[in-house]
Amino acid sequence: MPDENARPPAAGQLAGEPDGFDRLWTPHRMDYIDGPARPVAGAGDTKDCPFCAVPALGDDAGLVVARGALAYVVLNKYPYNTGHVLVCPYRHVGDYADLERGELVEMAELTQTAVRVLRESYGADGVNLGMNLGAVAGAGITGHVHQHAVPRWRGDANFLPIVARTKSLPELLGQTRERLATAWPAADASGEGTSAQPLA
Ligand SMILES: [Zn+2]
Repeated sequence: MPDENARPPAAGQLAGEPDGFDRLWTPHRMDYIDGPARPVAGAGDTKDCPFCAVPALGDDAGLVVARGALAYVVLNKYPYNTGHVLVCPYRHVGDYADLERGELVEMAELTQTAVRVLRESYGADGVNLGMNLGAVAGAGITGHVHQHAVPRWRGDANFLPIVARTKSLPELLGQTRERLATAWPAADASGEGTSAQPLA
């Protein structure tokens, strides 16, 4: 039985190092996170899902860069940077945890190839890879998993997105698609799998 009147330990007795951030402790939030108010993530309607619709379009119309057997690569219509691609399974599945092994492997291979192609064809200095699962995590389309690959260049950040909520993009989407699809290794484009070979 804990002693209700016991003094809490002094801060100096606890583990950790200060990092410059203040903490706003909100334990009441756990009721929402754990409880019945939690939103159902991953629900989605294939009829209204752009990631289900895109594969049926032509590569040009759909801005498709490469097609695998279980997953494909498409340009983000709302790019953070020129060359921002999304790797998606064909299957309408909202949660990364529900992907099947084949989908996981091919998404990883396509992502790896995307990194290589973005370096080769756009001279990217770096790439941000990421996935937002659920609306609270920032996903715009929660019902269909998609892996972002965003090329980065030294000095590519400027004041425009912060001050004017505007991205500066020096190339049209169709041109970007053409450039990436041309640079994409043939094995991926034919859906035969491996992207392990280096770019020629
Ligand atoms: Zn879908």
